[in-house]
Amino acid sequence: MGEFDLIARIRERCTSRRDVLLGIGDDAALLQVPPCQALCVSMDTLIAGVHFPYETAASDVGWKALAVNLSDLAAMGAKPLWATLALSLPTPDERWLEGFLDGFFELAEREGVALVGGDTTRGPMSITVTIHGAVLPEHALRRDAARVGDVIAVSGTLGDAAAGLRALQQSSAAHQRPELRVRLDRPTPRLALARHLAGRAHAAIDVSDGLLADLGHVLVASRVGASLQLDALPTSQAMRQSVPDAVERHSLQCEGGDDYELLFTLSEAEWLSLQPEAERQGWQVTAIGRVEAATGLRLSLAGHPVDPPTRTGWDHFGAAS
Ligand code: ADP
Ligand code: MG
Repeated sequence: MGEFDLIARIRERCTSRRDVLLGIGDDAALLQVPPCQALCVSMDTLIAGVHFPYETAASDVGWKALAVNLSDLAAMGAKPLWATLALSLPTPDERWLEGFLDGFFELAEREGVALVGGDTTRGPMSITVTIHGAVLPEHALRRDAARVGDVIAVSGTLGDAAAGLRALQQSSAAHQRPELRVRLDRPTPRLALARHLAGRAHAAIDVSDGLLADLGHVLVASRVGASLQLDALPTSQAMRQSVPDAVERHSLQCEGGDDYELLFTLSEAEWLSLQPEAERQGWQVTAIGRVEAATGLRLSLAGHPVDPPTRTGWDHFGAAS
C-alpha cells in the first residue's frame, strides 16, 4: 500500500458536511466557522511506547488519538467540529490502518467531528491530530479564570488509567482489570458536561498529566491557591479493589496521568445549580476543594493537613514539574 492508497482509504471513510466546503483531496481544506464564534484549535501527538503501550490495539490507538484532542477542546468549553491527522508509519500496514480508522471514526461520528485533511509519511510510528472547534470567546473556559472562593470540582473518577498502566507494567495478573485498562486505552472526553459548563464555570483544564500538576497550572495562571481534600477524590470500585492501599491510591490519583477528566472551578451558586442537571444527564461530578487567596496547594486527609507528594505529574522530559 503506497501513500496515495492510504490517503484513499482514509478518504473513503469521510462523509460530506455543509460546514466542510472542501475536505480531503485539495491542497488544504475550506471550513465554515460558525458566525460570531472563535475558532478553538489544539494539537496532540501520540508516540508508541510513550503515550500508549506497544501492544495497544490499533482501534484503541485511533480512538485515543482523537479522544485526547477532544479532551482539550472540552477543557475550553468548545464544540469540536473538524480534525486533521498526521500519520507517520514505519510500514503502511493495511490491517493496522483499518483498525486505527475504526476506532478513530467511532469516536468522530459519536461527537460529530469531520476529518478534513492531514499528512502521511513513512517513519517511526507517530500520530498527530489537530482538532478545530468553535466557542463563544466570552464563554471559553480558560486556565487563568479561577476565583477565590470557587469550588474545585472534577468529572468521573481519578487514577483509573494510572492504575491500569501500573498493573500492566508489573504484569500482576491479580491487579489487571478490564475496567481500568479501558480507561487507559479509551478515555472519554467529557464534551457534554464541558458544553454545559461553558459560560457558567470560571476555569477548566483536562487532567492529562496528573491532578496536582494540572490543578497547579490553573492556580499559577489564575494567581491563586487552593485546598484539596484527598478523601474527596472520586474513586472507582475497580480502583479500590486493584489498589487497596489508600496512600498508594492517592499517589496514583494525584500524580498518575491519562485521566482525561475535567477539572473545573465555579462559584458555590453555580456548583449547586449544576447538581440537578448532572443528575439528569448522568454526569458524575465531585467537589474536591476550594480556591483560596493564599498561593500554593494545601492537602488534607480526614481533616488533617498532609504533605503533597514530591513528584507532581508526568513530564515527558523526565524532570519533576
Ligand atoms: P500535499 O502534497 O499538497 O501536502 P498530500 O498528498 O499530502 O498533499 O495530501 C493530499 C490530500 O490528502 C490533502 O487534502 C491532505 O489533507 C489529505 N491527507 C493526506 N494525508 C492524510 C491523512 N493521514 N488523513 C487525512 N487526510 C490526509
Ligand atoms: Mg502533505
